[in-house]
Amino acid sequence: MSRCNTPQGYQQRMLQWEQDNHAHRDDNRTMTDEQDRGGDAANGTGAGGQGAGSTPLKPMTINFGGAAPLGGGSLNPFGSIVLIADAPTDAIAVPAGPSGTSTEPARTESHVIVIGSGPAGLTAAIYAARANLAPIVLAGSTPGGQLMLTSEVENYPGFPDGIDGPELMGKMRAQAERFGAAFHDVDIDRVDFSSRPFRMWARGTEFRGQTVIVATGASALWLNLESEQRLRGRGVSACATCDGFFFRNREIAVVGGGDSAMEEANYLTKFASKVHLLHRRDAFRASKIMIDRTYNHPKIEVHLNTEVAEVLGDAHVEGLRLLDTASGTERDLPLDGLFIAIGHKPNTDVFKDWLDVDEKGYLVAHDHTRSPIDGVFIAGDVHDHRYRQAITAAGDGCKAAIDAERWLESEGLAEHQTSTAW
Ligand code: NAP
Repeated sequence: MSRCNTPQGYQQRMLQWEQDNHAHRDDNRTMTDEQDRGGDAANGTGAGGQGAGSTPLKPMTINFGGAAPLGGGSLNPFGSIVLIADAPTDAIAVPAGPSGTSTEPARTESHVIVIGSGPAGLTAAIYAARANLAPIVLAGSTPGGQLMLTSEVENYPGFPDGIDGPELMGKMRAQAERFGAAFHDVDIDRVDFSSRPFRMWARGTEFRGQTVIVATGASALWLNLESEQRLRGRGVSACATCDGFFFRNREIAVVGGGDSAMEEANYLTKFASKVHLLHRRDAFRASKIMIDRTYNHPKIEVHLNTEVAEVLGDAHVEGLRLLDTASGTERDLPLDGLFIAIGHKPNTDVFKDWLDVDEKGYLVAHDHTRSPIDGVFIAGDVHDHRYRQAITAAGDGCKAAIDAERWLESEGLAEHQTSTAW
């Protein structure tokens, strides 16, 4: 079984996006077991190819549209990704340029190292690259962040008809590569921020940067029931975009009361015969528009004050034991699948010895995007648990890149760029 947090899981998501939108699907694919959502890219805790087979990713056929890449080549900005599981212990290099066909040796030193490749990391890379700082992006083994697992993004400005998450991330990456950002699709194991250049390691390869922008995002939370963990990949998932297809004409449930749960429940109606939305309280966190859409959907039944006490089934999900939190009574609900959409935890493990974290584990930024270490900047969901939007993360990435560039100038490490460079 493939895993969503492996490059193959990632490829599968890309293919799924393509097939959802452009083609019919292959009925023989197995369900993915989504361990950490895309936001764990480059967090140092990712599996880095664990459980992956040995077939290298072939260039994919998704047409991301937009401008043709400089120098020709494929439009697919992820087309040159190489499986970590197949690679020697050195870092995996994705050559610069959206065509992915450059033979330029992979750089491991830069003025700016960006860790993470969600909207924050990629926007930071675009701005740093446009400022001639030739950033290196340590993108994680599942590049693209949480939006790789999102179906339609309807609130990102500039896309009046909405845009699929993977397509948006593909465009951002192509834009960064166009201006000279170099990508390594690796997870960071360790960092040393004690002196400059700052040092980072990924599977034995050392990267050095005069500045670092930490944009590692956040990963999905689980209920942590024994039965939930046992049946992950056997009907339990945290990724509707990855696994929704496997529940065509089946009855399923989504847990959560935020926008993610609403979005996933609505998305899953494309496949399922019925979707139960289970929320532990009697009030939602989600936005009004998503609540209304959910209540008005004929295929969705909302259950308030409802917790999952146990996932039923041996080899695969056969139902749920539900607890009514108001009355304390339990009942069984037969169904075929369970999707967990209850929020995220920040990917900060490798930074905890160096940077400040708050009580929820999020990094703390001081004075806009600065960390306590001069030259290390913070952007996106890894420190933002208030807004957590693609657009706010992208804005953060922009700010961090500008702050990094100004800091490099103040240290005499980079030539002054005119404001028109932005
Ligand atoms: P969230 O807003 O934190 O909601 C998490 C939900 O899961 C809450 O309703 C919470 O219940 C429930 N929950 C947490 N732990 C649970 C547990 N152990 N068992 C059962 N339920 C549990 O997370 P989110 O929905 O992922 O959204 C995160 C942020 O991303 C938000 O700012 C949201 O607006 C944004 N977002 C935006 C979009 C969009 O604009 N298209 C899409 C998705 C997400 P309680 O309410 O009882 O705490």
